[in-house]
Amino acid sequence: MRHRINTFIVPAPFFIEMLLPACIRHIHKPSRWNHIPAINLRNRRQTVANFRASSISTASTAEATSVMAQDGPTIQHPLQVAKRLEKFKTTIFTQMSSLAIEHGAINLGQGFPNFDGPDFVKDAAIQAIKDGKNQYARGYGVPDLNSAIASRFHKDTGLTVDPEKEITVTSGCTEAIAATILGLINPGDEVIVFAPFYDSYEATLSMAGAKITCITLRPPDFSLPIQELKSKLSKNTRAILMNTPHNPTGKMFTHEELDQIASLCIENDVLVFSDEVYDKLSFEMDHISIASLPGMYERTVTLNSLGKTFSLTGWKIGWAIAPVHLIWGVKQAHSYLTFATSTPMQYAAAAALRAPDSYYEELRKDYKAKKEILVSGLKSVGFNVYPSSGTYFVVVDHTPFGLPDDVSFCEYLIKEVGVVAIPTSVFYLDPNEGKNLVRFTFCKDEETLRNAVGRMKKRLAPK
Ligand code: GLN
Repeated sequence: MRHRINTFIVPAPFFIEMLLPACIRHIHKPSRWNHIPAINLRNRRQTVANFRASSISTASTAEATSVMAQDGPTIQHPLQVAKRLEKFKTTIFTQMSSLAIEHGAINLGQGFPNFDGPDFVKDAAIQAIKDGKNQYARGYGVPDLNSAIASRFHKDTGLTVDPEKEITVTSGCTEAIAATILGLINPGDEVIVFAPFYDSYEATLSMAGAKITCITLRPPDFSLPIQELKSKLSKNTRAILMNTPHNPTGKMFTHEELDQIASLCIENDVLVFSDEVYDKLSFEMDHISIASLPGMYERTVTLNSLGKTFSLTGWKIGWAIAPVHLIWGVKQAHSYLTFATSTPMQYAAAAALRAPDSYYEELRKDYKAKKEILVSGLKSVGFNVYPSSGTYFVVVDHTPFGLPDDVSFCEYLIKEVGVVAIPTSVFYLDPNEGKNLVRFTFCKDEETLRNAVGRMKKRLAPK
């Protein structure tokens, strides 16, 4: 069936204005997000506001844009996207960060620190640039970084891996996830994910033509429903894509849960893709890499990155670690996705990973203090805060404040309170499952966290 395409002729003077907030017109779960652009458009001209509002109302299929041709006339172009990405809209993180800027709201939404990474890592990057490490890196990583990753992994897990044969360096963990899925999953293969899940999982699985099987982790403890996992594994299951510590809930999979997943994977010959980017932000228990459990290394791709641990989310240095027979697919996909990643940043990443243990201890201590400010603050505001063992996120139940769902709550929070959180319904295949939950991040300086709590205390009251 062909989708209906709305087209609009927009007078030239409005053209620039239209471009500006274009990102918020393409939104993730269109039917539930229809009202969000309206808050963005409060002070804008009516004509443009009408255009956006009506283009949003059918945005689940395709939209149109208008571009001024070189010689003057305005031309309409329906937005184009391949079927495999049709249902995905601008990521929730992009939307919410735009709204934070637009409304002058404190951004506890997208998970990026509002403080800088350590000087010793930044200095190493500057030095590498000055030393002329500026041409293409070796596709699977500069030797120094591969070797630093292998040493760190050995220290963390006790596993010895060959830095030259079992590691591929990528442009952030998001690319490592994509390369793993595109390199190892065939169209039609079943992949199990745990909802709520990081948004790129579904989009990347869709790009690979995978069949997604979803298992929901439910509050208050988001524990693994093992019987459901057993019942959903089939002979077509190729892999489980998991994340511990878990974004958005902060859940960490326990030793027992990991053992259960491991034995099911071994029994059913299933691979595990394990996203562990928050491994150094574990507060209530020790992080365990599933690859370190007996019989698991040979069927696991461990994915990680520099960004969270070193407060350098914009550097986009990530990696995949897996035995030779699995890293091959990852490396092949990576070769043709990006070929190699930024050379000087890889040298700096190697310096970062050689940080003494005290760096990691300090990081954890700092984040514990931030977490305490946010969690106790949210409780005092009246939220039902779910326990978070790791990551820099906490999930709360917003229903005491009387709004019908997470999206309306986040809209209210931005407009009336001046704080940004992330609605979690976008992290579920069935958005209804997340409608009571929103995510806050505490990767902000303490003053920002206190100010956000202050705003909420002043302007939010349980009903
Ligand atoms: N991982 C970050 C978060 O969950 C966001 C990354 C992104 O913006 N894509 O907030």
